[in-house]
Amino acid sequence: MAQEISDELVEVLACPRCRGRVNLSLNGAGLVCRACRLLYEIREGIPVMLVEEARNMDDHTAKISKYDSVQKARDARREIFQE
Ligand SMILES: [Zn+2]
Repeated sequence: MAQEISDELVEVLACPRCRGRVNLSLNGAGLVCRACRLLYEIREGIPVMLVEEARNMDDHTAKISKYDSVQKARDARREIFQE
């Protein structure tokens, strides 16, 4: 997915909850406040900077850490076989 908003716009935007900086998400679909763990969606090129509309990122993070532990277990097993 292409980046829908400019870096300049991201620079001037702030999280409405903590007034902190936001960053464009990896897939370009929204703006992320790491402090609040919220993702503000970009709809039709317009960032929706509303706490009520923001998505909580914790579910997503939980999936990533679960994957990490599975991967670590696999790597550990591989090491045992190599010795
Ligand atoms: Zn925030």
